Amino acid sequence: MKKVKMCEICGERPATIPDRERMGRLINRVCGVCHAARLRGDMVHILECHKNVRLTPQPPTRKETEGN
Ligand SMILES: [Zn+2]
Repeated sequence: MKKVKMCEICGERPATIPDRERMGRLINRVCGVCHAARLRGDMVHILECHKNVRLTPQPPTRKETEGN
C-alpha cells in the first residue's frame, strides 16, 4: 500500500498538491485547504503592495525638477 504523505502545514489532511516553491520535483506536500489558504494570503499580499504603490506620493518627474 502506498504511503500517503500528510500535509506539511496542517498535518491533518493528505497532501494532494505539490509545493510550488520546490521546482523540478513535484512532490505533494500540502493539502488543498492549506494551498487555498496560502493563495489567499498571496492575494492579500499582492493587493497590499498595489495599495501601497498607489498611496505613495509620486516623486516629481525629472523634467519638473530640472525646469527651473
Ligand atoms: Zn493542510
